[in-house]
Amino acid sequence: MPEGHSIHRVANTFESDYLNSKVKIFSPQGRFESDAKLVSGRKLVQSTAIGKQLFLGFDNELTLRIHLGIYGKWNFYNVPVSKAPEVWGAVRARFGVTNFSCDLRGPTVCEVIDQEGVNLVRKRLGPDPLNPDPTGSEALKFVAKVKSSRAPIGAALMNQAVISGIGNVYRAELLFRAGLNPKTPGEKISEDQLLAIWDDCVKLMRIGVKKGIMLTRDDYLTGRVLLADRYFVYKREGLPCRVCNKKVVLEEFLARKLYYCSKCQK
Ligand SMILES: [Zn+2]
Repeated sequence: MPEGHSIHRVANTFESDYLNSKVKIFSPQGRFESDAKLVSGRKLVQSTAIGKQLFLGFDNELTLRIHLGIYGKWNFYNVPVSKAPEVWGAVRARFGVTNFSCDLRGPTVCEVIDQEGVNLVRKRLGPDPLNPDPTGSEALKFVAKVKSSRAPIGAALMNQAVISGIGNVYRAELLFRAGLNPKTPGEKISEDQLLAIWDDCVKLMRIGVKKGIMLTRDDYLTGRVLLADRYFVYKREGLPCRVCNKKVVLEEFLARKLYYCSKCQK
């Protein structure tokens, strides 16, 4: 599943290529046809990502909300619709402006909602480390949400109401970097340690937005690590931990795969 950094990249693409243009939208597959009519031909006035959700706001006060889920995918073309590749497969929505076009396939959510609907969704979402927050209040919200729960930190990080945008890769890598066992109850973790995890998350996800790839090893950033070696524990079960040599563990945890080092993450 795409994690928050990739949705922010999509929001940035819409902002740079589609903002202030009238966007033609239609549904080759048909499933989005009636909602598409509500915003097609309107001017795009806002493109925002919160965690894994994309909000495209139009000049008639309606918003297109998209959540890719597990199978959703975007294809962007640097040509108008008239020159875009012929539609293949199930394209839920095709978007076009003067010089650009794109296709959306397989999203879990693709719906047009009003401002009240946007507010309802936003209220459910926890703070997003990628949305600028000069006052630091978002970090404190995250800390309060984790500390008020007995849920293990490995579950809290995946809960979009606690923090928006983290998926399995960032969860595994952030907890390794923090030296924290994923099963530690949130209420037992110090505020300082949670603030450090938040800051680390901001740092890693910003790199993700910039590079378009999840990089979590500091030595990678100086170009010394191969792409195939870019994670500490994610998908490295049975291989020696990069720090202590003990075998990385893979467990089924709340219906998702959990990777960690039982020695480094106490
Ligand atoms: Zn280790």
